[in-house]
Amino acid sequence: MRVADLSKRIVANLENSSWIRKLFDEGNRLKKEFGEDQVFDFSLGNPVVEPPKSFTEALREEVKKGGHGYIPNQGLVEARAKVAEFISSRFSGSFSSKHVVMTVGAGGALNVALRSILNEGEEVIVLAPYFAEYKAYIENNGGKVVSCPLTEKFEIDIEAVQKAITPKTKGLILNTPHNPTGTALTQENVNELGKLLKSCEKENSQSIYVLFDEPYSQLIYDEELADPFKAYHNIILASSFSKDLGIAGERLGYLVLDNNTPDVDLLTAAFVYCNRTLGFVNAPVLMQRAIASMDNLTVDASEYKKRRDLIVDILQEAGFDFMMPKGGFFVFPKSPIEDEVAFCQHAAEKYKILVVPSSGFGVKGYFRLSFSVSLDQIERSREAFIALYKDFA
Ligand code: PLP
Repeated sequence: MRVADLSKRIVANLENSSWIRKLFDEGNRLKKEFGEDQVFDFSLGNPVVEPPKSFTEALREEVKKGGHGYIPNQGLVEARAKVAEFISSRFSGSFSSKHVVMTVGAGGALNVALRSILNEGEEVIVLAPYFAEYKAYIENNGGKVVSCPLTEKFEIDIEAVQKAITPKTKGLILNTPHNPTGTALTQENVNELGKLLKSCEKENSQSIYVLFDEPYSQLIYDEELADPFKAYHNIILASSFSKDLGIAGERLGYLVLDNNTPDVDLLTAAFVYCNRTLGFVNAPVLMQRAIASMDNLTVDASEYKKRRDLIVDILQEAGFDFMMPKGGFFVFPKSPIEDEVAFCQHAAEKYKILVVPSSGFGVKGYFRLSFSVSLDQIERSREAFIALYKDFA
């Protein structure tokens, strides 16, 4: 049979992620055979809480007004002003609509930012375990991925980062609250990173950007979120309303720079240019108008906190070993056996529990579980998790 003549890189990536496809196929097969409610699907990071009323009401009003043509590539000034106000309420620094770019989700924001800063072959550090798409985003834009481990407690390992930095390092992606582990970085840890990057920049006279990816920032349960702007000057904040407003499918995100970032106007102009030329053109206009007319963008995370507390209770009762999730909607327990893929297959086949092996996030020996599902599903899975753990105890 003739092998299709496609991009070698993409075909190789498809092969590498074939186990994810297998997992989803197996999930679909189980759901078809036993019914949706008989399968405990914890594999997807899709928001389960509906958007706040203030959003749907604003959307309804905006639909009545019409107006769906192209808008400036940077985004509507009202939406950018709303984002700047929101970011100002949470972080130190000075923010204005001038240095906000509305994007197609956080994924679009990261691609636009990487396209704007990278020359061919320059390196971007990702801290493992990491959101699997980072690799593709960096490679999409001519960069080279450098994987550097987090510590056992999923904190930034400053020494490891120091070793990973070379004269070709252009960026480092930081994500908190974290997908896949659910942990949140402390201010101290982020300050230490800032100190290291400043000294590396001086030594090698190079610019290193921290892409601060924070789509789960409002879903935080016990701690204050670390403020990267207190720690470092070259911060590119990339985020979205996908998770906190529960509008992941509507694709609205943003990039924000502090007004005092070096070369702030040039960097903003690069973002706007890349937003256009990557083919995004502008972020969805109706969504921009809706968020612009909301009184404020803060959300209540209590629905997710309830789910976090319940899944933690179940996993503890079963005996799993994991770090307490502080934000977002993931937990990342240790696999009770070395081969986490075999463990996830066993969980699916014997108990119809669908979870994701950690290999997809750049580390071995763990599995990721999303608690963005119904409380009822979590509670019904209790006995299955207890029995699953016992199989390996
Ligand atoms: N960054 C992280 C850490 C994520 O978990 C996700 C989505 O799951 C994204 C970025 C992309 O978010 P969006 O759907 O807004 O593009």
